[in-house]
Amino acid sequence: MQAYLDALRSQGKSIGFTPTMGALHNGHISLIDRTIESCDISVVSIFVNPTQFNEQSDLDKYPRTTAADISLILPTGNHILFLPTVEEVYPQDSLADNINNQLDIDLGYIGSCLEGTERPGHFEGVMQVVKRLLDIVQPNKIFMGQKDFQQWTIIRFMCKALKMPVEVVPCPIIREEDGLAMSSRNVRLSDKARQDAVLISQKLFDVKAQKGKKGIEKLIDSATTALNKIGEVEYFSVINMDSMEAINTWDAADNILAVAAVWVGGIRLIDNVIIQQK
Ligand code: AMP
Repeated sequence: MQAYLDALRSQGKSIGFTPTMGALHNGHISLIDRTIESCDISVVSIFVNPTQFNEQSDLDKYPRTTAADISLILPTGNHILFLPTVEEVYPQDSLADNINNQLDIDLGYIGSCLEGTERPGHFEGVMQVVKRLLDIVQPNKIFMGQKDFQQWTIIRFMCKALKMPVEVVPCPIIREEDGLAMSSRNVRLSDKARQDAVLISQKLFDVKAQKGKKGIEKLIDSATTALNKIGEVEYFSVINMDSMEAINTWDAADNILAVAAVWVGGIRLIDNVIIQQK
């Protein structure tokens, strides 16, 4: 991979990279499309990273649909598809060595809030794999979805902290027609849970519609109550997009995001909506 890309780099080609865990859907394809639009070469990786899962059962159940993924990518243009094995990504004596061998970056609050509270060790695993993939691919730009807003924030932070010469490009959330954010986990929802799940995006968009009209706490309370009827809310919060800290007045930040993680029918779903960006 490195030799192949070195040859292209020496011809002056720019390289764009879209890392994924497979089970591709149109959200992933939108990232891939952006890569093709703005770079000469598109590299797409599919790798289900074991070090970012908190529970072995979640890793085991993660959908693996490589043949279907390839059929979805093929019509979108020419790509270099990178499908490494766990041993290639973590080529030491054992995976356990690598888990202990995480990056020494203190993420502070952006790593410990929201997803960091609920999924200890998750972002350390994400940083570890993205750093490794970036070292291999050495792209000019890496494309990441705002669906995982905290992940994008952390990877941007990591690249700055390590002074890596790569632009971390955020891409908007792609949704189903009824508003549910596309996710590889959606295929695991029962019909009933799939119908219920639409309430998550509805409540997030409600916050946007009510901005400045109703208080933040009141909106969070009513969203949480409604969502707890269809599932279990892990968090529903309105945050400063830059610091990720929760805010409770509309004038407390320039850039504001509403974020949620909700269990519906046994599946954990996350979503967010940008409320304002100055
Ligand atoms: P994953 O395969 O879930 O690790 O996701 C790979 C990339 O696709 C990440 O940067 C995600 O944020 C992004 N992504 C996942 N779902 C969506 C979506 N609905 N819209 C846009 N990007 C997404």
